[in-house]
Amino acid sequence: MAEEEGITAKKKDFSEWYNQAVFAAGILDKRYDVKGLNVWMNYGYEIMLNLKNFWDLLFREHGIKEMYFPLLVPEKYCEQNPSWWEGFKDQAYWVKSSDEDKASHILRPTGEPAMYPMFSTWIRSHRDLPFRIYETVSSFRYETKHTRPLIRDREITLWHEIHTAHASSEEAEKEASLHQKLYDIIWRKCALLPLKVVKPEWEIFPGAVGAVEYYNYMPSGKVMENGSINNLGQAYSKKFNIKFRDKDKKEKYAWQLCTGNGARLLAAVIGVHGDDKGLVLPPEIAPVQVVIVPIYNNKTKSKVVGKAQQLKAKLPFRVEVDDRDEFTPGWKFNYWEMKGVPVRIELGEREIAGKTITVARRDTGKKEKIAEKLLEDRIKKLLGSMQNDLLENSKKQLEVAVHTAKNKKEISSLAGNGKIAKVHWCGSEKCWGGIKDIEEGIELFGTDLKKSGKGKCVLCGKATDTVGYVANTY
Ligand SMILES: [Zn+2]
Repeated sequence: MAEEEGITAKKKDFSEWYNQAVFAAGILDKRYDVKGLNVWMNYGYEIMLNLKNFWDLLFREHGIKEMYFPLLVPEKYCEQNPSWWEGFKDQAYWVKSSDEDKASHILRPTGEPAMYPMFSTWIRSHRDLPFRIYETVSSFRYETKHTRPLIRDREITLWHEIHTAHASSEEAEKEASLHQKLYDIIWRKCALLPLKVVKPEWEIFPGAVGAVEYYNYMPSGKVMENGSINNLGQAYSKKFNIKFRDKDKKEKYAWQLCTGNGARLLAAVIGVHGDDKGLVLPPEIAPVQVVIVPIYNNKTKSKVVGKAQQLKAKLPFRVEVDDRDEFTPGWKFNYWEMKGVPVRIELGEREIAGKTITVARRDTGKKEKIAEKLLEDRIKKLLGSMQNDLLENSKKQLEVAVHTAKNKKEISSLAGNGKIAKVHWCGSEKCWGGIKDIEEGIELFGTDLKKSGKGKCVLCGKATDTVGYVANTY
């Protein structure tokens, strides 16, 4: 599809808009002939690498060290934790070497079975704890549901998972709070405010004992799970025999956490911030923060392009000059708008003569003329306020979506119509499941971290101060 043809209106058909925007902006190409596996195009990959570089620094700053574990996991490692294996067996990609009759390895679907047998080798004493590492890798799951680029893939790319082991549950709790803080920082980088919820035990990562999960409200009216902090308690250390000799000389099992997220961050950025012209990227993760489009003819080319290069060299941002002769300025405007570049500079002879520069902002479309000597300061401010405004927009989108529902009818009219219903829930698995029967596709997807005022469970009427959120989910 050529950029000048434009893409489907976002409000008209979000799913179609999303697929077209991901392709047209040069994020991914899904024409690779294995379902659920995509090619990362350079532009998309650079956005993700900006994010990855950011979390690499952030984790390192907090003492969490990067490692790499092999892609192949022997079946015997998987079998060490049957509840985990039950959850992932049906989605496994089996690997067979040419001299084997039967496959005995799988591609990693998550990190645990590759990591924990090694943890048990390394962790011996309280002096080996806390043990805090992460890896950023691809994971492979044979998804039977409808695949969607970045949202549901069979190769889950650029996925980080932090795994930590501790001597006490208190230490593990402290680590979990730290992970929440780290994720708050990553979310701000993406200019997104997610909904943070607690999951009941029957809904969480196979074998875990508690979890905090993040959800984005997407313009389709559905919510998308986006990252989780899983408290594994001692459930995995008992299966994988991760034991240490404590200060009191007693052998104890380690307390563990696993926390992960990846390219769905970019899916949320695209979905929440984009518009009918394409992507709108938060300046902090944009590979190109400022694009200069020189406007010239044969006679003025060297002067105008020369000036554009001069500005690029001077400005302390990620700047690109688009001096391709074969495209018109109008075509270039559309092209860079599709890619979501935060600021565009239009530079012609008139601007050079008057020493003023025309600058356009991607999110609002507002243009202004700026004296050349003030350009750097002004762009710095523009990038900063765009980053903030996008975050504020994401907060507003979420606020507008969430409404309290007091009964089934209200749940149905909210969650059934692309909103999030906030409801009192008694805590029982029966009522949790009962929400699904109210309307097809909707579910209770988590409870608020804070207790709310007293109320009655929307299904059974029992008094409770727990509130949960109901919506259509991806
Ligand atoms: Zn109930």
